[in-house]
Amino acid sequence: MNFSGKTAIVTGGSRGIGRAVCLELARGGANVVLCYAGNEEAARATAAECEALGASVLTVKCDVSDSAQVKTLVDSAITACGRVDILVNNAGITRDGLLMTMKEEDFDAVAATNLKGTFLCMKAVARQMMRQRYGRIVNLSSVVGVRGNAGQVNYAASKAGVIGMTKSLAKELASRGVTVNAIAPGFIETDMTAAMPEAAKTATLASIPMGRLGQAEDVARAIAFLAAEESGYITGQVLCVDGGMAM
Ligand code: NAP
Repeated sequence: MNFSGKTAIVTGGSRGIGRAVCLELARGGANVVLCYAGNEEAARATAAECEALGASVLTVKCDVSDSAQVKTLVDSAITACGRVDILVNNAGITRDGLLMTMKEEDFDAVAATNLKGTFLCMKAVARQMMRQRYGRIVNLSSVVGVRGNAGQVNYAASKAGVIGMTKSLAKELASRGVTVNAIAPGFIETDMTAAMPEAAKTATLASIPMGRLGQAEDVARAIAFLAAEESGYITGQVLCVDGGMAM
């Protein structure tokens, strides 16, 4: 896919799915603005991989749940590149537990990063994209946001909320040439899922018609598709990338 001349902000670009997205967009010629929370080593490594593909990369440490930091992130991207064409709201966390034992702070932390973070980043780029009369926003939801999952009421609520925000903003920005879509990955092998017990992984695998766990690149390619100029007539959609899990 051709992203030359385009500037893309990828939150949580240091590791996992975000890293694969940065590489996919860099391969297509985009300028990449890589946002990370605290893992500077991983952020630097991913930035170097993107640069090796010929991309220009701006690496910004930014907590997406903090509006001032998000404003600085977007301002830095506009100062460096003059525009923002693509926003991939990928930063996300889990704090799993059954409702009966889940602490209030675990609910708040997940909502702050996954839901409020997505809201803040969309709000920060919206004016610029409307001015440009061009933009592609891709939000990371989850099959858990579509179907629910025991032990993840906080995460499911945040990811279901992302779907609601995606459809609402898609309606608000459709006439301005800005599309807003969501990706709902199934079980993808990243640091986020690495700690899951083997028995739970085996049970999950049994529920995937394609019979394999997903890779970050499976998701990155779908994100790149929705982020492409050619996908301009697709908006407000939720695309499951899950090997058939949510069918
Ligand atoms: P991951 O490997 O745990 O990576 C998370 C990324 O988010 C890291 O780059 C991390 O930065 C960044 N991050 C975390 N909190 C942040 C914050 N407050 N501000 C800015 N960046 C922050 O996760 P992943 O598996 O790639 O997941 C990426 C997205 O896909 C998430 O939204 C997740 O919910 C969603 N998803 C994943 C799966 C799956 O099976 N893996 C399934 C469905 C949906 P640092 O490196 O600096 O810590």
